[in-house]
Parts: sequence; C-alpha cells; structure tokens
Amino acid sequence: MRPRISLVIPCYNEEAVLPETRRRLAVLLDQLAAEERIDPSSRVYFVDDGSRDRTWELIERSSAEDARFGGIKLSRNCGHQYALLSGLLTAEGDVLISLDADLQDDPDAIIAMLGAWRDGNEIVYGVRSQRDQDSAFKRLTAHGFYSLMRRMGVDLVFDHADYRLMSRRAIEFLREYPEINLFLRGIVPLIGLRTTTVHYARHERFAGESKYPLRKMLAFALNGITSFSVVPLRMISILGLGTCFLSLAMVAWILVGRTMLDATIPGWASTVIPTYFLGGVQLLSIGILGEYVAKTYMETKRRPRYFVEKVL
Ligand code: UDP
Ligand code: MG
Repeated sequence: MRPRISLVIPCYNEEAVLPETRRRLAVLLDQLAAEERIDPSSRVYFVDDGSRDRTWELIERSSAEDARFGGIKLSRNCGHQYALLSGLLTAEGDVLISLDADLQDDPDAIIAMLGAWRDGNEIVYGVRSQRDQDSAFKRLTAHGFYSLMRRMGVDLVFDHADYRLMSRRAIEFLREYPEINLFLRGIVPLIGLRTTTVHYARHERFAGESKYPLRKMLAFALNGITSFSVVPLRMISILGLGTCFLSLAMVAWILVGRTMLDATIPGWASTVIPTYFLGGVQLLSIGILGEYVAKTYMETKRRPRYFVEKVL
C-alpha cells in the first residue's frame, strides 16, 4: 500500500521561491518515505509555464542533482490551469497531488491527504480552514464568487483552490475532458468517484509576488461561470420577459390616464429614461450572449491546449 506519488507544481517566474520550495519538499519526501507512507521512487514535477526568469534553469539543476525532481517545460506561458493540466497528464505515479510553487498551501496536509486516499478516496480536496492571510477584499470577492457559482448550479468545493490529490484512475477520467476553456475546479467534481476534503491553514507567499493580479482573477471567475453555467443566458430571457410585461403595464397605465383621468403624461424623464435603460439592458444581453458565442468559437477550433517542450 505504498503509493508512488507525484507532486505537480506549476511555476511561472518563480525563481525567488523555487530553491526553498525544493528544500522543503525534499524534507517532506524523505519523511514520507522513511515512515513508509510512499514509495521511494515518488517524484516532484515542476512545470515551467513559459517563465521569463531563471525558473527552468533552476528546475534543470535540481533535476540533475536529485533524480526525484523532474521538470516539464511548456513551449510558452499557457496559464496556471493549463500548466497544471499538462503536469497532471504527463506525470507518472499512482497518486498525483497538485500544489502551488509558493507553498501557500501547507505541504504537510499531504500526509492527511494520503491517509484519506488509503481510506479509499480517489479525489481529496484541500480546503483552507482560515483566510486571515488574505486581504479582506480577496476574502470577500472569493466568497462572493463561490456563492454566485453555487447559485448558478455549478458544483464547487468552497474555499478549495487547486490543491488536491487525485488517484491514477481519476486522472485518466480527467484526460477525457477535451475543453479549451479549462476550469479545473469545476471539472474535477464532475468526475465523481469517492471524494473527501482535508483542511489546512493557508500561509502567506514567502517570496516573490502573486502571479494572479485582479485582472486575471476576474477573467478566471468569468471563465468559470460561462464554462459551467447557462444560467446567465436564461436570466436574459427572464429579463426580457419581465421588460415586456412592464411595458404592457405602462401602456395600460397611459390608457387609463388618458381615458378616465384625462391626464397627459408630462415630462421628458418618463420617455428618455426607459430608452436608455433598455439600451443598456440590450447591450448587456448581447455581451453575455457574445461570451458564449466566443466560447463556442474557441472550442470549435480544437486548437491544442499546450505543448510540452521538454520533460525531465
Ligand atoms: N502560475 C502559472 N502560470 C501563470 C500564473 C501562475 O503557472 O500564468 C502558477 C504560479 O507559479 C504559482 C501558482 O500558479 O505556482 C499560483 O499563482 P500565485 O501564487 O501567484 O497565485 P495566488 O496564490 O496569489 O492566487
Ligand atoms: Mg500563491
């Protein structure tokens, strides 16, 4: 029952954190192997997501010095989700665990994850037990996002980022999802199998800067919603229907005013405001429709999602 595990770690311009990450993971692997929790041939795969700094050089060096450290080099910057996917689909091993290069997700939770795997779970989600390290803004937006997704009918694990354990079988099922608009957090729960969660404390990034500025975060959230839910489309229809009824009511009101009360509707506001309002509603609706058309467009091209340039 000693699984061969692979840790998959996407890295984008992470030269500041890699040496320390490598040191900490080597200690962890030693410990797990000594306690006979994992097979000694277990490995770490650093995925270089087209970094512009010395990240790949550092990965090559650690691979040369210690055979347990492998590397996967993507041909360009493809983004965190693709870097993660390429690592998961390339790495060997019976059990794969994905985590971030900055070790914000406590690596010691891997022990608990492996315990859950031994108990028969094939997917184990790492869930943050507290968020004090995040800014109030990030906390608020993140929770807002999860609730919004829930309400749109997307099955998401609350406060789970991409720190998770997957069995070989779960990975092979994941391989069957060919989508270009990749939102792993939404796809993995669709796989099914026996799953559970493990809680951990989230730390601060110990070096380097976040590679997820607000702009990328918003794009990620939007992609998550439109890749998994057609509720926004349905909302447009409901909005349209509501507006139709409203205008019918307005007609009735005008007629009643004219015929029975003999009052003319005065004013400019009552004419112009609805015009602007409806203009806005229509543009917004077209925009939402456009998001889905764009998604379909990208999917129909069937372009390759990433290229692996080198594997160590
Ligand atoms: N990352 C990546 N490609 C990108 C952006 C980020 O592989 O285009 C990696 C990054 O190196 C890190 C992980 O994704 O290992 C999470 O990024 P980060 O820690 O900057 O995000 P945050 O924790 O601030 O949300
Ligand atoms: Mg981070």
